[in-house]
Amino acid sequence: MNEGTHRGGCRCGTVRLTVGGEPDAVVYCHCGDCRRSNGAPVSLFVGYPRTWIELEQAAPKVYESAPGVRRSFCGECGTPMFYEDEALAGEIYVAIGVFDDPEAFEPREHSWFSRKLPWLDIWDDLPRHEMSSKPR
Ligand SMILES: [Zn+2]
Ligand SMILES: [Zn+2]
Repeated sequence: MNEGTHRGGCRCGTVRLTVGGEPDAVVYCHCGDCRRSNGAPVSLFVGYPRTWIELEQAAPKVYESAPGVRRSFCGECGTPMFYEDEALAGEIYVAIGVFDDPEAFEPREHSWFSRKLPWLDIWDDLPRHEMSSKPR
């Protein structure tokens, strides 16, 4: 289970974080914006209330990838780290690869499954949302 404290950071260790408690979401995103931003065929995010995330040292760099959408990355090594969306106010989505213990999180659902790459086989029986998994 996920309730414990998790630590993580970027590839170079400049940005480090700690978070505790059960996440609100563990969700795959197949959208093209995440694909390009993360350089990966599919992204997996762990969502928490933003105030739960404690940064230990440096803050990541932030840019607006779409109106109301903020993505963060390490300014030194470029690791994609966070996703925030005004439509999901108060939440921050942490890229799963940032965690020191990514195996601790069980994916719960797929968002933007309509954009999944055709050669990517996914055999789980998790809920598959054609668009965003969250109401807008
Ligand atoms: Zn870094
Ligand atoms: Zn996405």
